[in-house]
Amino acid sequence: MPNRQDAYYMHNLGCAKNTVDARSMIVLLERHGLHGVGDPAQASVLIVNTCGFIDSARRESLGALRDLAAIKTPDQYLIAAGCLSQRYGADLVHQVPELDGVIGTRRWMDIVDLVRRLRARKHPEPIYHLPDEAQTVGTDERGVSRVAVQGASAYLKIADGCRRPCAFCAIPAIKGTAISRPPDRIVHEARLLRDQGVQEVILIAQDTTDYGHDLGIKDGLAALLEQLVAAVPDMPWIRIMYAYPGYVTERLIDVMASHEQIVPYLDIPLQHAHRDALLRMRRPANVEWVRDTIAAMRTAMPDLAIRTTFIVGYPGETDEEFETLMQFVEDMQFDRVGCFTYSYEPGTPSADLPDQVGEAVMLHRHHVLMSTQQPISLARNQAFVGRTLDVLVEGHAEAVDGDDRPTGEIISLARSYRDAPEIDGYVLVEGELPTGAFVPVRITGAMVYDLLAVPDGQRSG
Ligand code: SF4
Repeated sequence: MPNRQDAYYMHNLGCAKNTVDARSMIVLLERHGLHGVGDPAQASVLIVNTCGFIDSARRESLGALRDLAAIKTPDQYLIAAGCLSQRYGADLVHQVPELDGVIGTRRWMDIVDLVRRLRARKHPEPIYHLPDEAQTVGTDERGVSRVAVQGASAYLKIADGCRRPCAFCAIPAIKGTAISRPPDRIVHEARLLRDQGVQEVILIAQDTTDYGHDLGIKDGLAALLEQLVAAVPDMPWIRIMYAYPGYVTERLIDVMASHEQIVPYLDIPLQHAHRDALLRMRRPANVEWVRDTIAAMRTAMPDLAIRTTFIVGYPGETDEEFETLMQFVEDMQFDRVGCFTYSYEPGTPSADLPDQVGEAVMLHRHHVLMSTQQPISLARNQAFVGRTLDVLVEGHAEAVDGDDRPTGEIISLARSYRDAPEIDGYVLVEGELPTGAFVPVRITGAMVYDLLAVPDGQRSG
């Protein structure tokens, strides 16, 4: 009879990336002597790997947690992992007070440590493994960390708040207008990160392209990037997230194209491609600018990877507007596209707009958009088969066969310059490569979201 004390129960929800994280946690738990069971009553560790992408997923995840909370006994630990934990952090415990542990998406590799800490704890307080608890360097004036190091990558916040007027977004009301951090502080933190062995700095803000506006710096992001490449010439990757349409300048393109350290990756949430829909969203409506700018970027950086997101079912979205969006998606051949159905945010201007789109129509449009994009993403991935790319190794997982059954073989989960952490896919490399290392690999296969590879010089097995 298996020992309940050494058993875990894993309930995984959400997307393929969540499944990879769940499998990775399972590999770690089993390496440390725990075994999986299908009946929560037979386990001492109960894990729900949650999804928080849309409202229905959030409800399903909370339901799974509450179901386990209802049957949990005092000698069992209930852990929330995944996106809902990442998003709500400690607030999740207010919604499910029986929770013992909360672990964010980028901390799945700490699952064994969390179990150990829970077993050793002397008080009933929950234990959190969240990004803010990650190893940190640098603090702002209030002593709040602006840097979170996770593995070999680090998020470096360059500004906070937002001065854009997007009608569906509550962030400007919650956080206030954009406040840029002084460039010398950012540069200082980048140096500290380099000294710690960090391989990738990811610049984040609600709108990175607005960086420096409040400081009176013209073309602030381009200027900051130039300072960074000069200050940390040995930082292999510098990545920019969250560019705002209309503010990718010629100088920014030029700086990106002329420094190898700045990865040719553009994350530019466009939200829609029909002028009227964009005007209702209070977003830049010059779609020709988008087409021209992306063409100019692709000329300057032929390997540029572009990620964008769209909202479907925004209030008043007509069939014709949606068709314009679909044509745009086909024309632009983006590498990666995220699609959200419009979500009502109380207190935002769009909450009061007439002609709200019904859920069935929204879901249908979401399906049509993603079905259109998937072959495009696949083709763009397939174009890399046979090429050699440097990848950054993030962790390991157990390979599965065509029927999704574990094979017992360990593979490495890595990212190329085309993959931002958390939102893009992986390069799945044969063999157990060292975590945190840059490794040249040869791409041997492509799927919609992920690539398959072998270490360069090795034949595919
Ligand atoms: S969607 Fe982005 S750019 Fe628009 S207001 Fe919100 S945070 Fe700012």
